[in-house]
Amino acid sequence: MSTRFRSVKGTRDLLPPETAVWNAVEACARRVFESYGYGEVRTPLLEDTGLFERGVGESSDIVGKEMYSFEDRKGRRVSLRPESTAAVGRAFIQHNLQELPPPVRLFYIGPHFRYERPQKGRYRQFHQIGAELLGDPGPHSDAEVILMLVEFLRQLEFRDLAVLVNTVGDEESRASFRAALVAYLEPHRERLGEDSRRRLETNPLRILDTKDPAERELLEAAPTLADHLSPASREHFDQVLAILERFEVPFEVAPRLVRGLDYYTKTVFEIVSKGLGSHDAVVGAGRYDGLIAELGGPPVEGIGFAIGQDRLIDVLPESFLAAVAGEPPVMLIPIGEEARVEGLAMAEALRAEGVAVVAELSGRSMRAALKQANRRGVRYVALVGEEEIASGELTLRDLESGEQETLSAAQAARRLKEQR
Ligand code: ATP
Ligand code: MG
Repeated sequence: MSTRFRSVKGTRDLLPPETAVWNAVEACARRVFESYGYGEVRTPLLEDTGLFERGVGESSDIVGKEMYSFEDRKGRRVSLRPESTAAVGRAFIQHNLQELPPPVRLFYIGPHFRYERPQKGRYRQFHQIGAELLGDPGPHSDAEVILMLVEFLRQLEFRDLAVLVNTVGDEESRASFRAALVAYLEPHRERLGEDSRRRLETNPLRILDTKDPAERELLEAAPTLADHLSPASREHFDQVLAILERFEVPFEVAPRLVRGLDYYTKTVFEIVSKGLGSHDAVVGAGRYDGLIAELGGPPVEGIGFAIGQDRLIDVLPESFLAAVAGEPPVMLIPIGEEARVEGLAMAEALRAEGVAVVAELSGRSMRAALKQANRRGVRYVALVGEEEIASGELTLRDLESGEQETLSAAQAARRLKEQR
């Protein structure tokens, strides 16, 4: 017996009608982001492994244990992209985009890869919709990026949105906080898990990101970054909050919100909504002022977000889904042998009038064809038999009411438009 192949663990096929939802979400993202002056960037799925080691950080989970890395036939170390901010930064530097009038606004949509334990909402190939604003250090760009993200989610018909926002400060603030955090955690070392104990040395701030309940409890009383902010970071954060207030964006300051990637500075945020649920993050976002320089580029600041498209689609509001579903196509049913070709011609004529048509091709009986139409959820069928061929018309039947009428393709198109 021959082997039956299945999709690789942690990857999945997206099929119709679900792909229509994916397309609608992507079209919405393109429309909204373009209205803010963003252009699409498409970077390769494959990058130099060193890019992520440098950009995302060796101590991050992503680089430490989640990357799909391998050597190509010439021994080059390459990885499937686990995220895109480092890749967009690499492209920015490679193409000297700092020579464009700043800021440069880019968005991306596409698959990403992380070797994780697959479960609901967690895949090895997953999809992100993200945007990056490069070349402006000010709080106004933070606010604009948040406004754009909120607008996108509103157009997907999410209600009761709230932005959770925090600041992780600049280098100076982080150094001072890091020392205080280590001093607090050091005496409780034995209450930390293995990962966090290691992070105490490599990257203590990442301990704040823990999902372990015992560690979370310990962190309740830990010092907060807010107490260690440099005056410049505090001022930046206050300005972001003031702008959000001015635009009546519902937000909450979340003092323990940190992001798992090393490159974040100052503003970090997430979005919550009743629909979005709370245990799994749907959006990761923040400012990364040091990243471009870290990658060997000019000192250009950046801010951006990445939405987990798979998770976003899992929680889309019903109202958005209903609008996407739309009407099923008209089914064209030929009656008799001659009508099999003439029926195709009529289907073409209807399409030329803007009507979506599926043609019955098998030559099955009208009764069997009508049964198929029912299974497909079709409401209108177009019948073409001897008489219709002679007059160049079709008989449009409404399967719900049973009413029918013989019409030209153009008349049928108009009738369908009136009734829908
Ligand atoms: P998590 O804490 O759930 O692992 P993360 O902090 O690793 O998320 P980011 O690197 O910030 O995630 O990526 C941004 C978004 O991409 C996440 O909020 C999530 O919606 C989505 N995402 C990340 N990893 C996966 C995955 N393996 N499967 C599906 N979506 C994912
Ligand atoms: Mg993760």
